[in-house]
Amino acid sequence: IDDAGFRPASRIASIGVSKILQIGARASAMKRDGLPVIILGAGEPDFDTPDNVKAAAKAAIDRGETKYTALDGTPELKKAIAEKFRRENGVDYALDEITVATGAKQILFNAFMASIDPGDEVIIPTPYWTSYSDIVEICGGTAVLVPCDAEAGFRLNAEQLEKAITPKTRWVLLNSPSNPSGAAYGEADYRPLLDVLMQHPHVWLMVDDMYEHIVYDGFKFVTPAALEPRLKPRTLTINGVSKAYAMTGWRIGYAGGPKALIKAMAVIQSQATSCPSSVSQAASVEALNGPQDFLVERQRSFKARRDLVVAALNAIDGIECRVPEGAFYTFAGCGGVIGKTTPKGKRLETDSDFTDYLLEDAHVAVVPGSAFGLSPFFRISYATSEAELKEALQRIATACQQLAG
Ligand code: PLP
Repeated sequence: IDDAGFRPASRIASIGVSKILQIGARASAMKRDGLPVIILGAGEPDFDTPDNVKAAAKAAIDRGETKYTALDGTPELKKAIAEKFRRENGVDYALDEITVATGAKQILFNAFMASIDPGDEVIIPTPYWTSYSDIVEICGGTAVLVPCDAEAGFRLNAEQLEKAITPKTRWVLLNSPSNPSGAAYGEADYRPLLDVLMQHPHVWLMVDDMYEHIVYDGFKFVTPAALEPRLKPRTLTINGVSKAYAMTGWRIGYAGGPKALIKAMAVIQSQATSCPSSVSQAASVEALNGPQDFLVERQRSFKARRDLVVAALNAIDGIECRVPEGAFYTFAGCGGVIGKTTPKGKRLETDSDFTDYLLEDAHVAVVPGSAFGLSPFFRISYATSEAELKEALQRIATACQQLAG
């Protein structure tokens, strides 16, 4: 029986599966059908989990660390996280101010579930990582999307923040470097925002630092809890091992924040999601404590790819791409191709039409800006080989040349 009248809960009825995952599934199906599709959709580093991390996981299994662990992280992992926050970010978190979950996505869910009442508002600068607004809505809150265009470097400014705050605002969620834009907030960008927050004691700050290790051109990564210690008691600092250590499948995310919030997040974890994988936690201790020098080499490699992609995109008539400060994404404007007609006679009305055209006719999978709340743009994830990137960019250029009108 396929359909016995199932009706999804109203909470999720209007929320679909992540657009990024949908495009990935469609592109993979085309590939299985023998089409030469290049997938630049997923935010997945193309290098392997470091050997020392894999060895730590194997050793944990051999030691029998295959049972439930402490609910929100082993003491060993929390110690490694506390040390990481101190060493790399200059922020002191005690062990009871730290929580671990099954990926940063789960951390975000736990945090919102633990803190949002119906009608509470979360300010999210747009473009934003697709899941942010959906998690807020699932938890009963209201996502307040504030468009931040390319001219503003895709960054929220103090005036916009001030205007968006209402008595119902619970959180502001900032992500630097950003998925999808690669834009990052330096100290000078953060300062005015933190000053605004100092004037609104009912508003809390959630920062997603997932891409902190992937920054370019000497950009100095900073995190707000270090910049403004007076805001630390109402700041949640989120991070994880997925992107920096190529551990997306290991599912470990973590956060530092005020004790009461961390405790409330543990309630969700205890009743609904349980502890993260014991083996992945042991491996993550090694990731955070082990050698970090390979991160520099990774940055160099990602930078070469960023430069290649940005230059190739800006050489295409109708496409405009800002130089991102970090992460491994470009978020290029495609306003110049909207209104044009494909060789098959289809008029491109939206950025989704354009990315559909690229997938169907050029066999390149990218994600439309609409998936991240800002149009007309498209996101390329350049965490793939230079050879594939060159081929994909050539195909995109040819597809754009073939548009009429
Ligand atoms: N935050 C951002 C900005 C991301 O891009 C992602 C994944 O793409 C996540 C969080 C989720 O990371 P995790 O794999 O740890 O759940």
